[in-house]
Amino acid sequence: MLNIFLFSFLKQKWLFQTIKDLEQISGKAQLDALDSNDEFKEKAKAIIAIRDQHYKDEVSALKKHDDYRKEFLGNVSHELKTPIFNVQGYLHSLIDGGIDDKNVNEYYLRKASDSLDRLISIVEDLESISEVEDPHYEPNYRIFSLHDLIFSVVDTCQLQAKEKNIELNISSSADDGIFVRADREKIRQVLTNLIINSIKYGHQNGQTIIKSKVLNEKVLVQVSDNGIGIDKEHLARLFERFYRVDRSRSREIGGTGLGLAIVKHIIEAHSQSISVSSDLNVGTTFSFTLEYSKN
Ligand code: ADP
Repeated sequence: MLNIFLFSFLKQKWLFQTIKDLEQISGKAQLDALDSNDEFKEKAKAIIAIRDQHYKDEVSALKKHDDYRKEFLGNVSHELKTPIFNVQGYLHSLIDGGIDDKNVNEYYLRKASDSLDRLISIVEDLESISEVEDPHYEPNYRIFSLHDLIFSVVDTCQLQAKEKNIELNISSSADDGIFVRADREKIRQVLTNLIINSIKYGHQNGQTIIKSKVLNEKVLVQVSDNGIGIDKEHLARLFERFYRVDRSRSREIGGTGLGLAIVKHIIEAHSQSISVSSDLNVGTTFSFTLEYSKN
């Protein structure tokens, strides 16, 4: 048995070395010159074809990666440019005399400050995305009450909801609470993002419902609103970085276009899944799963 294995190993080694030598002398032409019935020639050709395909795949993966990086850098600089130029514009107007004009000085300062707030939220979102996109990122797993977390997040979103008179309702299939095993702070970020989005893209006097239930040893969480909804053609790209359905509307209401990309990365880092369903002018539902813990 050992002899057979050794023989096959040596034969393979010899084959690889021979192909290398042949290629160095005159490339594939040398192989083609061999007798077409030669088993060796067929094997060598097959191996070279596999290797060539491997190189091709590697080159195309590198190119894809490079395109992705270029697109991301382009998007980042584009997003940063607007608030930076705004701050510059307001400061120059103040320096050029606006500072002494009581009608505009405070307005310009407020506008500059708003643009700086925007810059900060873009940088914070970029930090979040690079943290969860890192292949070494590991969720800080804890067992905690999902209900307590939902209540706490809803509480912090109430002020923003009241501005549009949107009702935030919690509904659960388990009265005694559901426990999950996850990174509590990261799931807080997920829920906050989804609930704030339901308010941002919700109608005045609208409603958001946060539902949770145990399903097949997992917990299903759903955040539904009766807001503006999303056209079907956008749904497939919604979780991409910087993807927005309506760019100017999103910027106007302080969106960075990174929220859903962060949410998706967090959920996938937990080996769970997230999906969206929506009907234009009817509403949107985001559903994600979490690991159920029996406590
Ligand atoms: P943004 O910072 O622009 O809100 P997100 O990544 O959070 O970025 O969302 C991406 C886009 O998805 C938004 O620009 C918006 O068009 C759309 N969107 C997200 N949530 C909702 C929602 N609940 N209802 C309607 N549209 C939404």
